[in-house]
Amino acid sequence: MLSRIRIVLVNTSHPGNIGAVARAMKNMCLSDLVLVDPVRYPEEAEVAFSRASGAQDLLSASRKVATVEEAIEECHLVIGTSARQRTVRWPVVDPHECALLASERAGSGSQVAILFGGERSGLTNEELALCHYLVQIPTNPDYSSLNVAMAVQVIAYELMMVSQQSVSGTEAQRESITAGQFEGFIGHLEETMEVIGFSDDRSSDKLMRRLRRLFLRADMEPDEMNILRGILKASQEHRVRTPRKPENG
Ligand code: SAH
Repeated sequence: MLSRIRIVLVNTSHPGNIGAVARAMKNMCLSDLVLVDPVRYPEEAEVAFSRASGAQDLLSASRKVATVEEAIEECHLVIGTSARQRTVRWPVVDPHECALLASERAGSGSQVAILFGGERSGLTNEELALCHYLVQIPTNPDYSSLNVAMAVQVIAYELMMVSQQSVSGTEAQRESITAGQFEGFIGHLEETMEVIGFSDDRSSDKLMRRLRRLFLRADMEPDEMNILRGILKASQEHRVRTPRKPENG
């Protein structure tokens, strides 16, 4: 189960923290580490490797990619982490709830990703908009930002604890779409909104974020997404067959 939970570090600025994350993960039996556009890594890989201590194997096996979208493409559940309350109102869970959600999905064969932001500014709103949930580690309200490797440690500990308790589920397993399929759907929706004249030009970012939140919450199955895409396609075709009437008669 833990092998299907991926830790994604986004724009980490200190290579030492990457090594410390590898160590925290290996302590808790996690192994899948993906680095999105890290700063000074692999240039300063020796700093990372020395902080990884006995977890160099995990670090060597990590993958480096250019974008968050690439890191999560085949994932079914994406969870973001944040030290502070964001303006985007996303469902927020605590580390234990996060572990329950992740283990339920990973236990039924889905791929899960947990995203951690860079030391300077954390995850951007655009990156958070890719997530089904946000996790916040409860802290001193006046001093809420943990070192990124410490944050990974807390989340990974909860994951390991839950994985030891989880029993084989008897509930019917649902199949849900991947982050890549979700992006395809959102692209199709945005394009259709333009074609049918719901939005001029490109839709506003705020509107698209709200729609993302709505459809992420629905946690669609592939068949359900295909029905919606069928409706989008038919709407576009209908618009092409019946062009808009000129405004003034
Ligand atoms: N200055 C940044 C904090 C970056 S800390 C900000 O204000 O957002 C680096 C990363 O560690 C965060 O992006 C998050 O992934 C993780 N992190 C730190 N504190 C956390 C907390 N209390 N809960 C959840 N994640 C946390």
